[in-house]
Amino acid sequence: MNNSITNKNPKSENLNWNLIQIEMKNKLGLDIYESWLKKIDLVEEFNNYLLLSVPTRFIRDWITSRYLDQILQSVKNHKKKIIRIEFKVIEHNKNQDYNSEISKPNENKENISFIKDSYLQYNRIDPNKRFENFVTGSSNKLAYEASLKVTENVSNYNPLYIYGGVGMGKTHLLNSIGLILKKSNKVMFISAERFMYQFIKSIKANEMVKFKEYFRNTDILLIDDIQFMNGKEAMQEEFFHTFNALLDKGSQIIVSADRAPNKLSRIQERIKSRFSGGLVVDIQKPDYELRKKIVEKKTQELNNLYSDQVMISQEIKDFISSEIRTSIRELEGSINRIISFARIYNKIPNLSETKVVLKDLLNLTENKVTIDLIQTLVCKFFKISKNEMLSSRRSRYLVRPRQTAIYLTKILTSKSLPEIGREFSNRDHTTIIHSVKTIERLKEKDNEMLENINKLKNQILYNNK
Ligand code: ADP
Ligand code: MG
Repeated sequence: MNNSITNKNPKSENLNWNLIQIEMKNKLGLDIYESWLKKIDLVEEFNNYLLLSVPTRFIRDWITSRYLDQILQSVKNHKKKIIRIEFKVIEHNKNQDYNSEISKPNENKENISFIKDSYLQYNRIDPNKRFENFVTGSSNKLAYEASLKVTENVSNYNPLYIYGGVGMGKTHLLNSIGLILKKSNKVMFISAERFMYQFIKSIKANEMVKFKEYFRNTDILLIDDIQFMNGKEAMQEEFFHTFNALLDKGSQIIVSADRAPNKLSRIQERIKSRFSGGLVVDIQKPDYELRKKIVEKKTQELNNLYSDQVMISQEIKDFISSEIRTSIRELEGSINRIISFARIYNKIPNLSETKVVLKDLLNLTENKVTIDLIQTLVCKFFKISKNEMLSSRRSRYLVRPRQTAIYLTKILTSKSLPEIGREFSNRDHTTIIHSVKTIERLKEKDNEMLENINKLKNQILYNNK
């Protein structure tokens, strides 16, 4: 494959299809990736178009109608001149795995041949995602406890609706519930995405009766990422009937989503209101404590997994816990990256190498810190008003807070000195340098100053009081 690309395009670099795949996975989520995009192979790269292959016509049509724009967009980001994508159906199954990053054992095990016509393959319950290895903190305790309750006393909370952002542990919890309940119940665990796929496939194959029967026979229905079940009236209709039929016969339904029921778009009102009818719990972003616990747990797990232990220093662990704030998936990903760095280079990265390795993840959180936030929090901390801070008055009780805010802006944002000057009532950039230097100096010898700076940093970065 590579040869032919080089022949066609001697000068330009080959498109890295693995990279595009990884981008698509990040952009559209693991499930869509696993269900559809993973099946795509790059056949050949031509001057201004790509030839991709997929295993069936149906997959081709599905991808074309839903994801083609986004695939093309991703491709264009790497190669502007590609303006079109063509698909070829190649009907054999290559069990290729595009995961170039470290993947956990078992993660790919469920990668069963896609075309095999069995509903069972959609019961992708991962034996590694259990209650026992779900770390709890204040942000997820409620969801955890509700999930546990469901396994003890089915249909007490029915449906149970768990929502939260990407990578917060929703699928992990659904998995945990499924693992326990499947011991003595018929459990169906499916993502909304796959539900739709199965639905449409059943219509095409004239197998609606089988479809309905299959779903309506289950004792426990776990549906992941319900936000993806949008559009398609007929399907929502079928879903609604299945949903009601199951509730009527006392089956337990557990739903996960990235948002609250009333915020779901393009889902019928009556479905939303049924979702709200049971117990609705959310998972919030992990706080510092939880992040720390998770970093500990995950490094331990990895150490138990590999005999040649990789010891990540406390400094790096603290750094990850305090800087990777968006999700638990990213925390996990960060640790994986550090470990894979350590394996490739045969050394544990130091702090600055860690920053390089995690650069893209760090950027995500950086720009949330605004000058306005810093000014607000510093004013509150020193009990002065914003007008006073931004005024030209030079009373001592105003000067230090002002310098502190300037210093924090310098170290916590990527703003340039003139930019910072502008935000502080058009002060000259030399004033900004002077403020930064003053605080740096004071911090060294004045413990109270150091403490204040740390407290403020904490408040600004983590919203901690
Ligand atoms: P979501 O479904 O909300 O997007 P996942 O359940 O897929 O998130 O979680 C992302 C990753 O983080 C998974 O590998 C999961 O095992 C892990 N994870 C999430 N929450 C926790 C937790 N509280 N304790 C341990 N691991 C967690
Ligand atoms: Mg999920």
